Amino acid sequence: MSDIIRRDPRAEWIARNRLHPLHAAMQPAQHSWMGPNGIIRKNPHGIGFIGPNGIKRIDRSGAQQGGATKRSAAVEVQLPLHQVPAPAFYISVVPDMVGGRLSSHDRDLLGLAHQLAGKDGAVLAVVFGEHKENAFATAGVDRLLVLDGDEFSGYAPEQRVQGLRAVDNQFSPRHWLLPDSRSGGGELGRRFAAALGERPATRVWQVKDQECIGRAGAGLQDLARPVARLILAAVECAEPVSETRHEALPVELSTAVVRSLSRIEDLGAVAVDPAAIPMAEAEFIFSGGNGVKDWGLFHRTAEALGATEGASRVAVDDGFMARDRQVGASGTWVTARVYVAVGISGAIQHLQGIGACDKVVAINLDPGCDMIKRADLSVIGESAEILQALIDAVEAYRNEAKRDAA
Ligand SMILES: Cc1cc2nc3c(=O)[nH]c(=O)nc-3n(C[C@H](O)[C@H](O)[C@H](O)COP(=O)(O)OP(=O)(O)OC[C@H]3O[C@@H](n4cnc5c(N)ncnc54)[C@H](O)[C@@H]3O)c2cc1C
Repeated sequence: MSDIIRRDPRAEWIARNRLHPLHAAMQPAQHSWMGPNGIIRKNPHGIGFIGPNGIKRIDRSGAQQGGATKRSAAVEVQLPLHQVPAPAFYISVVPDMVGGRLSSHDRDLLGLAHQLAGKDGAVLAVVFGEHKENAFATAGVDRLLVLDGDEFSGYAPEQRVQGLRAVDNQFSPRHWLLPDSRSGGGELGRRFAAALGERPATRVWQVKDQECIGRAGAGLQDLARPVARLILAAVECAEPVSETRHEALPVELSTAVVRSLSRIEDLGAVAVDPAAIPMAEAEFIFSGGNGVKDWGLFHRTAEALGATEGASRVAVDDGFMARDRQVGASGTWVTARVYVAVGISGAIQHLQGIGACDKVVAINLDPGCDMIKRADLSVIGESAEILQALIDAVEAYRNEAKRDAA
């Protein structure tokens, strides 16, 4: 096994949060401590572990007594299992699954679905095409329906509406929830509403007391209305599920989905220049700060990775990056799936701008800086060396792919 120390931000968050039900399980076992009169006290019962035959074993290597130099792997936590053996009704969620995985917006929706499902209802996720997600259970999915025929892949909103109609006929969900996003959910939800002849509640950011509140009037007003059956919800409409594990039982359609007339032809994705993508819409941002010493190398790395460039205010003020690239409170608030911060300390004004990013990677010399604390993955070292190694790795990967294709 590798010696690299891997952090588990979720476990660390639970360890800090004293109100979390798993807080106690995340505390390191304490075998010796200093008593009030200065004498070291030992708990002999806390040492060792019970072996498979019930006999207590003590590991003399010291690894269990906290003497190991290497941090042990993250504690495997088993969240309480939430089961709904015979659902009284269903709440259907159609996640966007950008890149084949649940996005943070999708997880917010699953949280909202559980709010509406209560104890008796089950949350049914309807997923189109192939996916790479293996965390449906911890995201709150009670039942999982995958519609993975070729007809649903790519841009196929009409066929997907047919799929949703089939689900509607079979499961009659009490509510349908779709993300009101540009990644598909906004359009699919409106098409589906038209097909059902129902008026959806759109841009919903809160569902409470039998009312849903959505943004209206060019985002300047709130519109409250009784909870609609079809809800197109905004980001942060609810807290994602974090305290329970769900069954994610696979279910299937009992009837074949009607084929729609192919009035739309998907000609495939079009390559775009990452530099031309507005910061607020970029999915992958490579951002540089005061710790970038070679800006030519920084630009070459961003190009090799195909990422959109961003910057801290110091990098902008020093003239290395354009003003429209500044990320943060007085720049752009970004929502990237991956945000790489190179030589950025993580000042509060910068962190505010990346609050909605899914995964943050930090490259920094200082292991104690705030960006490293925020990051899901950290690389400690000299930025120039790491950027060069990244370019080499990308080139090696591409050359290998070319050789395999030849
Ligand atoms: C009203 C107000 C609004 C602001 N708005 C914003 C905003 O919108 N966006 C924003 O970013 N800032 C904003 N700021 C500024 C903010 O407070 C910080 O000053 C700024 O974010 C710091 O930028 P930095 O992290 O690039 O630089 P520094 O704070 O100088 O950090 C540089 C980092 O690089 C690391 N480093 C140094 N050398 C290397 C190396 N060779 N290899 C790897 N790492 C290295 C250091 O360890 C350090 O962590 C605002 C400030 C105010 C007062």
